[in-house]
Amino acid sequence: MTAAAQGPYDLILRRARVEGRPTLADIAISDGIITDVEDHVAGAGESEVDVAGRLVSPAFVEPHIHLDKVGTLPLLGRNSSGTLAEAIEILHRIKRSAEPQQVAARAGVVIRQAVLSGTTRIRTHVDVDTVGGLTPLRGVLQAAREHAHLCDIQIVAFPQEGIIRDPGTADLMDAAMRSGADVVGGMPHWETDDEAAREHIAICMRLARRYDADVDMHVDETDDPSSRTLDMLTEATLRSDWQGRVTAGHCCAMAAWPDEYAGQVIARAAAARMNFVTNPATNLLLQGRIDHEPRRRGLPRVKELLAAGLTVGCGQDCVQDGFYPFGAADQLQVALILCHAAQLSVPAEIDAALASIRHAAARIMGVRGYGVQPGCAADLVILDADDMHEALRLQANRRWVIRRGAVAATTKVTSTINGGNDQLSGG
Ligand SMILES: [Zn+2]
Repeated sequence: MTAAAQGPYDLILRRARVEGRPTLADIAISDGIITDVEDHVAGAGESEVDVAGRLVSPAFVEPHIHLDKVGTLPLLGRNSSGTLAEAIEILHRIKRSAEPQQVAARAGVVIRQAVLSGTTRIRTHVDVDTVGGLTPLRGVLQAAREHAHLCDIQIVAFPQEGIIRDPGTADLMDAAMRSGADVVGGMPHWETDDEAAREHIAICMRLARRYDADVDMHVDETDDPSSRTLDMLTEATLRSDWQGRVTAGHCCAMAAWPDEYAGQVIARAAAARMNFVTNPATNLLLQGRIDHEPRRRGLPRVKELLAAGLTVGCGQDCVQDGFYPFGAADQLQVALILCHAAQLSVPAEIDAALASIRHAAARIMGVRGYGVQPGCAADLVILDADDMHEALRLQANRRWVIRRGAVAATTKVTSTINGGNDQLSGG
């Protein structure tokens, strides 16, 4: 990057490859907004970056992660009985004893990791329950403030322990919405029966109306084919006239439903303009554990949802916590896992996988001005690749990440093959 003479633009990216454009372009940015995408932008920028023919994509979007839980795995200690009951007791102990500062520190590590891998918008769930109260929310709010220059963070108030089965949570959810949460979460399948699940959803929808908030629930995160909370949520969405504002995450039971029922539910979900988020990394690992072969894969029916015209995003869900020991907060990795898990392999399907971490995920988060056109926000990732399919296949290096028109992160990789003359340089 070289400082140029005073010009009308804050930043110009020179010689950029832009999807759908046959020739390289210059991208000019002012006040955090893309102003021009042209063969050649005359004049100078305060800063200029010669991206030398690399691909410029809108920055990635993470629509589903749990930033309050990330990095807790090393704190959990040994589960001496190996039982789920002890695992839950250990998780509660961590949640009960955490300070907001500790939550913020752990979340911060993962936010910075996400930004380095090209993500500048994150929707995170945070636990709201009588175990940890509002501490997880306070911690993630602090992390969001500390990283506001790098990333937009939208917070979902998530009743991890249920609402009916954890008395006091309904009031805490209300307090969370007053204290800075943006979206109403839920987990109706965790209640003890269908009646309680319906009541859980009703409480959440009332809260959403009170705060004019979107809704994003954990739905049917179980292998149990009798789990029916997606249909309940769809019904409630139509009844509340909240079409287009409700997201159903996980939806694992859909894999176990009979085809006929699944088809009916998907048609009703389309009528309610429901959004979906699948989390293939964690659910491939967690679901189908008690199955003998063939195993259920714990994914919603991604191809059918796409065929019905529904918006499907894809999330990391967990990073190094009690549920999942992996996770790099890298959405390009998550999209590649989705391709394998949902068998997305022809060009249009690969495009859908890429949309699940870009345009579809942005729609779910309600992002306006998402893209590489004049008028769009200048949140961009510049990849060591010629096109997005190649970027996905090779998990291309994220050379620069641009946040509101400023360079937020830089990664340079150089590889050399010994014994030859060829040098492969990542720029
Ligand atoms: Zn989740």
